[in-house]
Amino acid sequence: MDQHSALPPVELMPKDLSAYRKGNRGVDYVHTFDSGRPGPHVIVNALTHGNEFCGMIAVTTLFERGIRPLRGKLTLVFANVDAYHRFDPAQPFESRFVERDFNRVWDLDTLEGPDETVDVKRARALRHIYAEADALLDLHSTSYAVPPMLIHEPHEKLRPLARHLRSPLHHVILPGVKHPGRPLIQYGAFGDPAATPVALVVECGQHFARTSGDLAIGVTMRFLDYAGMIPADLAAQYAPLAGEPQRYEVMDVLVAKTDQFRFAAPFVGFEELAGGALIAVDGDEEIRAPKGGCTLIMPARRILKGRDVVSLARPLA
Ligand SMILES: [Zn+2]
Repeated sequence: MDQHSALPPVELMPKDLSAYRKGNRGVDYVHTFDSGRPGPHVIVNALTHGNEFCGMIAVTTLFERGIRPLRGKLTLVFANVDAYHRFDPAQPFESRFVERDFNRVWDLDTLEGPDETVDVKRARALRHIYAEADALLDLHSTSYAVPPMLIHEPHEKLRPLARHLRSPLHHVILPGVKHPGRPLIQYGAFGDPAATPVALVVECGQHFARTSGDLAIGVTMRFLDYAGMIPADLAAQYAPLAGEPQRYEVMDVLVAKTDQFRFAAPFVGFEELAGGALIAVDGDEEIRAPKGGCTLIMPARRILKGRDVVSLARPLA
């Protein structure tokens, strides 16, 4: 159910993606542009969640502007298109996925198991594409209007990319915290600190906000610039925000144990709670902030038993 009944304004609407359906990789909605020159293979991934349109805006912008890599290969993916096609503006949160969250299936047990959901089948169709990437940018948006954030694992290999992207200026690091089901950025070599491929998530702002599309375009251009794929004068138009990132480390991920999980207040994210403060009541259980306090990251709008509902983080110096 919905923690807050008010819906955000829907400023971004789905675009017709039928022109992008037939790609050149034998998988629908996947296009690879090969510069013919040596260089990395990078992937810009939109629509991991069907109702998060900012990535779709960024990828269609790359198509419309005819952006082609100066070196290496660039692959553009519209991921969970089945979920995207179910968007209903009267129920804008219902089309995050069809049957199963596409961003919680990236472990081999799920990918090679018996699950026959639409979302897992799509993941199976895409996994060999993702496995080719040297770098992957996974574009998302948030349920609530909180500052945009960059999310990645703690591996040293991610530092230079995070530093190059710089903004958004909230960086959230997930050290060994496992959500129920693996996110795409932990799939295969991405999650292996000893392997070179890197993947990170950018949460570009609130779902359906026009600004989330603008931010997604900017961060995508900096990502392509990091890979040396676009001319310097184009990259210069998308300089990061001034200022140093504030970094947070996720300490714990709360999972709803019952259907009665309720937050103690209408949290939206980045609230700083003192140690012992009530976060939520889950059935008969009170869930309180750990001793040293915590910062709430991305409380879910739709609470579902067995799913993660909020991350607890601490600011890093
Ligand atoms: Zn998302």
